[in-house]
Amino acid sequence: TTTTVAELETVQVLGHGNGGTVYKVVHKKTSNVFALKVVHADSDPMMRRQIFREMEILRRTDSPFVVHCHEIFEKPDGDIAILMEYMDAGTLDSLLKNGGSGTFTEKSLADIARQILNGLNYLHAHKIIHRDIKPANLLVNKNMEVKIADFGVSKIMCRTLDACNSYVGTCAYMSPERFDPDTHGANYNGYSGDIWSLGLTMFELYMGHFPFLPAGQKPDWATLMCAICFGEPPSLPEGVSDEFRSFIECCLQKDSSKRWTASQLLLHPFCKQPEN
Ligand code: ADP
Repeated sequence: TTTTVAELETVQVLGHGNGGTVYKVVHKKTSNVFALKVVHADSDPMMRRQIFREMEILRRTDSPFVVHCHEIFEKPDGDIAILMEYMDAGTLDSLLKNGGSGTFTEKSLADIARQILNGLNYLHAHKIIHRDIKPANLLVNKNMEVKIADFGVSKIMCRTLDACNSYVGTCAYMSPERFDPDTHGANYNGYSGDIWSLGLTMFELYMGHFPFLPAGQKPDWATLMCAICFGEPPSLPEGVSDEFRSFIECCLQKDSSKRWTASQLLLHPFCKQPEN
C-alpha cells in the first residue's frame, strides 16, 4: 500500500546529514512510526535520476540487516523524501560518543560484526557496494539490532563536493586501493573496500577513537591519506583476544585481494562465538 506525505505527522528532527534532514514521523491512520529523510535535491535532472535509481535499488533490498526503505516521494518543491524504518537507538557513532571507550565489549562487538557482515553479505550477493560503511551509517534499535543505512544518497551527495576535506568523515574509512589512480577504476573488486571500512569501524568501536589518529586529534586529510596508503594497518593493543585481533587483521589487509570476504568473515572464529 502506498502512503502519501500528507498522511504523515512530524514528531521531531532526528538529525541532519549531508544535504538532508531526517525526521521521526507517525503515520496518522495506523500510528506506525517511521523515519523520513528529506533530501534537498539538486535541480540537475541527471542527479535526480541518479538518486531515484539508487533509491530504487534500496527499495528492493529486503534484509533484516539493512534499514528498510518503504517509499520514495517527490515533493512539490522538488525535494525528495525517503520513508524508512525507524531505528530508535540512533547510530553506533552516537552510542560510542555517549558511552566513550569501553562502551562495547568484545562480545557485543562480535554481535555487531556478525550483523553488519550479514548485511554486507546480502548487499554483495546482490552486487551492491555500500562504499560508506562507518559508525554513523550503522543504525541501532533498542533490541541491539544493527542495520546498514544510508547508501546511494550520501554517496551521490559527496560527488557534488569537490574538496575532499569537506567530507573527510567519509574519505577516512576508504581503503588504500581507493586512493590509487591505477586501481580505483576498472579492475578492482569494490566489495573488499566495504570490508576495510568494517575493520576500521570495529577498531574504532573498541578503541573509542578513529584509528590512524590519536584520540581527540582532528583529522587532517593529507596526514590521514598518507597513513592509510603508506603506513602499516592499525593493530589492536595488548589484552584483546586472539580471535578479535585476527578478525581485524583479516579485514585490514592492505592488499585487497588478501582481505577476507563477508561470507568468509561470517565463519571467522570471532563471529562464531556463542551469541549468548
Ligand atoms: P548522513 O547523510 O550524514 O549519513 P543521514 O541524513 O542519513 O546522515 O542521517 C542523519 C541522522 O539522522 C543520523 O545520524 C541518525 O541519527 C538519524 N537517522 C537517520 N536515519 C534514521 C532512521 N532510519 N531511524 C532513526 N534515525 C535515523
